[in-house]
Amino acid sequence: MTGSSFSHRFLLGLRTGGVRWAVGAIFNRLFPPRPAMRAAVLEATDAGMGLEIGGPSRVFSARGLFPIYPSATHIDNVNFAAQTTWESELQDGGDFRFDPRRAPGTQFIREATTLSGIGDGHYDFVLSSHCLEHVANPLGALREWHRVTRPGGCIVLILPDPTRSFDRRRPVTTLAHLENDSVLNTGENDTTHIPEVLAFHDLSRDPWAGSREMFEQRVRHNPENRCIHHHVFDLPLLVSALNTTGWQVIAAERVRPVHLCAFARKP
Ligand SMILES: [Zn+2]
Repeated sequence: MTGSSFSHRFLLGLRTGGVRWAVGAIFNRLFPPRPAMRAAVLEATDAGMGLEIGGPSRVFSARGLFPIYPSATHIDNVNFAAQTTWESELQDGGDFRFDPRRAPGTQFIREATTLSGIGDGHYDFVLSSHCLEHVANPLGALREWHRVTRPGGCIVLILPDPTRSFDRRRPVTTLAHLENDSVLNTGENDTTHIPEVLAFHDLSRDPWAGSREMFEQRVRHNPENRCIHHHVFDLPLLVSALNTTGWQVIAAERVRPVHLCAFARKP
C-alpha cells in the first residue's frame, strides 16, 4: 500500500473507530492548517450554534484539524438518507451525536440543496467535510447553506485535494459547469460525470472501493449510495464557488494529506 493510499484510507469518508481516529490525530499533528486559519475558525464558531452537512467528521472533533465540536454550543446535522454508506439508523428529528461529552443535536434527513423547514439565518455557522464534491448541484447547496446562516455567520468547508486523492487523473471542473448545474437545478440522479469517473478514477488510491467490478456497480447505483464525486474542485474553484454564492472567503488552503480547507463569512 502506498503512503498516499494509506492516508486516503484513513482520512476520507471515515467517521468513527478508535484506530482510525488515532491515526487521523497523528496526521493532524504532523500536517495542521496554518495557525491563523485555525484560530480564526475556532474564534468564529466558539459557543455558536451550527449545522453540519454530512458527518459527523473527525476533522471537527477534539483531536481534529478544526476542533469545533468541543467548543460549539449546539450542532445539528443534515444527511440525505437514514441509511448511507457512512452512517446507519438515522432518524429525521432524532439525535445527532457528534461528541460523547456533549448533548446531541438534531438529525435532519434532507438533501444538501433543500433544507426545508430550517429557517433563514437560523445558524451561526455551517460545517461540511468531504461532502460537497458528492453533490450534483454544489452551487445550489452553497446558496442553501448561505440561506440558513445568519448575516455575519460563517462556513467551514473541507473537500478532497484532487492531486492527492483518487481524483488525481480527472480534470478540475469549471465554474461554468457548476453554474450550468445550478441553472438546470441538476438532481442527484445526474449521470453526466459517470463516464469520467469510470475512465479516470484511480482505484489504486481507493482501497475501500474493492474490486473493479464492485466499484463499477457502486458507481452505477450512485443515486442511492451517493459515493461518486460528481465534481473535482481545486482551491481556486472552491474559492470561486463560495464567492459566486454570496460568501466572502477569509482563508483557503491545502492541508496535507488530502484536504482543501476554506473558511468564509456571510456578509
Ligand atoms: Zn455536474
